[in-house]
Amino acid sequence: MRAFNFSAGPAMLPEEVMRKAQAEFLDWKNTGMSVMEVSHRSKEFMALAHKMEADLREVMHIPDNYKVLFVHGGASLQFTAIPMNLTQEGDTVDYINTGVWSEKAIKEASRYVNVNEVATSETAIPNFDEMTFSKDAKYIHICQNETITGVEYQSLPKTDKIIVADFSSTILSRPINVSDYGVIYAGAQKNIGPAGLAIVIVREDLIGNARSDTPTLMNWQTYNDNESMFNTPSTYAWYLASLVFEWIKDQGGVEKMAEINQRKANKLYELVDASDFYYNEIEPSVRSWMNVTFKLKNPELDTLFLEESKKAGLLSLKGHKVYGGMRASIYNAMPEAGIDALVSFMKDFEEKHA
Ligand code: PMP
Repeated sequence: MRAFNFSAGPAMLPEEVMRKAQAEFLDWKNTGMSVMEVSHRSKEFMALAHKMEADLREVMHIPDNYKVLFVHGGASLQFTAIPMNLTQEGDTVDYINTGVWSEKAIKEASRYVNVNEVATSETAIPNFDEMTFSKDAKYIHICQNETITGVEYQSLPKTDKIIVADFSSTILSRPINVSDYGVIYAGAQKNIGPAGLAIVIVREDLIGNARSDTPTLMNWQTYNDNESMFNTPSTYAWYLASLVFEWIKDQGGVEKMAEINQRKANKLYELVDASDFYYNEIEPSVRSWMNVTFKLKNPELDTLFLEESKKAGLLSLKGHKVYGGMRASIYNAMPEAGIDALVSFMKDFEEKHA
């Protein structure tokens, strides 16, 4: 029996996907080989790659003037690739800082460009009206969902500038309007598939302007010109991502995912808000649907909470060390039964220890 795994990433994958991968582990599509033993240039694997992109385009309604790149190096390498592909030395860019992942992006970009940190907040999204964007900013960078505290944008600043957004922990969780962004990027290991793959969705006119010293494998043009196969891609991660995109389609798309995700998150927030035992520090209007953080009013009970939840088959609820408390990461693959089990465990725990 599989546990309910609330890890922030790598995270739970849909059971149907895991079973399909298991069934075809030794012999993929009657090739007599595992998909991970097949050449990435074989016609079978190329067909997988094309279908994977088509399915992602379909579920995210990606317009034709956007390219989809499957890249190496996780979301973190894009922290560097973004300024290298979008700016020249001496340029200015704007970053909104909403926590640890924003800070990491800022730190990396600061090595290459003048970064203007337009606003900072850890437990809310700063008020757009109070931000002063640089007149000549090449782009505005946001972290759409801060995985550690659980803060998620519900709207975007009104601007004619290019918005570049880190979607690592919220991609595919709800419908978005891709055209609102110049670049959307995400590591795979939360809502896409296993680690080892990252996705960049980029408006086509933003490709081809990289600095001359950009490493080949960080230049978006390289991926665009070579169907993301300039060198050997992480084929097994691609394969599992392709199964996850098919699974999302079968579930009714991101529209259906959103309905379920909102309901799942609300069950937890409602419990926490109604309790004198647990609390959540995030401004309610921007609470994440994917990473629900909560703290125990008595932190001396944290260890016991984690021990007992683990015994109940509810795993990885410990919050990130920089923020503390608890965190339930409830990506698309977390079944609603996992939320119900957690809610019931939390109520029992409160009853016993309040
Ligand atoms: N951005 C966000 C919002 C994240 O949550 C993470 C991973 N937890 C990253 C970036 C870094 O991703 P990767 O490990 O794929 O580089």
